[in-house]
Amino acid sequence: MQREKQTILVTGGAGFIGGNFVLGTVGDYRVVNLDALTYAGNPDTLASVSDNPDHVFVKGRIGDRGLVDRLLAEYRPSAVVNFAAETHVDRSIDGPKAFVQTNVVETHELLEAALSYWSALQGEDHGAFRFLHISTDEVYGTLGPEGYFTEESPFRPNSPYAASKAASDHFVRAYHHTYGLPTLTTNCSNNYGPYHFPEKLIPLMILTALRGEPLPVYGDGQQVRDWLYVEDHCRAILAVLQRGRLGETYNVGGHNERTNLEVVKTICALLDELVPGSPHESLITFVADRPGHDRRYAIDAGKIERELGWRPEETLETGMEKTVRWYLENRWWCEAALSRGYRGERLGLGGPA
Ligand code: NAD
Repeated sequence: MQREKQTILVTGGAGFIGGNFVLGTVGDYRVVNLDALTYAGNPDTLASVSDNPDHVFVKGRIGDRGLVDRLLAEYRPSAVVNFAAETHVDRSIDGPKAFVQTNVVETHELLEAALSYWSALQGEDHGAFRFLHISTDEVYGTLGPEGYFTEESPFRPNSPYAASKAASDHFVRAYHHTYGLPTLTTNCSNNYGPYHFPEKLIPLMILTALRGEPLPVYGDGQQVRDWLYVEDHCRAILAVLQRGRLGETYNVGGHNERTNLEVVKTICALLDELVPGSPHESLITFVADRPGHDRRYAIDAGKIERELGWRPEETLETGMEKTVRWYLENRWWCEAALSRGYRGERLGLGGPA
């Protein structure tokens, strides 16, 4: 007898990583995709699955308890995968409140809904249920020139964004330890790839360079990040969902540490190759640094490699080439995303609103 296809409730599946995850899993799973369509949510990302019977899109907030309860009761998912969040550090500097609201208050509401649904499940369904929370390495704070974040590193969030994600990670942990909710958490390094909202470093640089405008590099550009191609992250999330140990957290990273300046130079070199013209590097301009800008993040991804056999497939060079080509071939997506309001202006210099 053929096994029935599993249903998963994905939240934030119209965003960057959630959107890539949905595109990669629809078909293998039936996906109920709950997204509030904030400025960062983009229905265009989901165009190729809009008529797919295995994709059900629902516009709404993770904090809307009545709606989430109804979705859980109607679709009876075997897992909740929580991507929904406010995610841009610069915006969290200008307006932290929205980050507390979604990342803390509403994530807690989602945990409550999941707990109540899971508590009422029986037998195999009860045993199989998972709540997978997607988080960031920014909860660990900043590193000096040496060392890596492990799952044992203390939380030392420095931005309002990181603090709100750290709070949600603690709630997920507490719901496992206190109520037994079968949770999993991933803490991932910086992602890049297709469908990334053009306010983030990599798409911002690609699109600005294509317009021949100055490329704003924050401070001295020597901040180090560990970059992971988004499809590698999505593969890691699936591995954790399918084989992760309950109550555990898994760090996910790309072994691709680069300074921001190196990343921008890599993009410029690729653009020189793909869009010949004047050297794009001449557009680099240093601008005022982000307040409290963390100096270095680097992930030790040994646990997920040892326990679940996950490893990134892309290097920064191969992933970045795919990414630059994608933005060149999908200008319509970028234009549509930009037409919703953000025009590349500088964010995150002011105090809280
Ligand atoms: P994103 O900003 O591109 O997308 C977030 C999505 O969540 C949007 O579609 C938005 O409409 C939706 N959303 C926001 N508030 C909501 C609410 N209250 N209810 C329902 N939907 C809501 O974010 P992303 O870059 O795809 O990040 C997804 C997750 O991964 C986040 O939790 C983030 O903290 C985490 N993460 C991101 C990165 C990265 O480099 N982008 C790295 C590590 C972890």
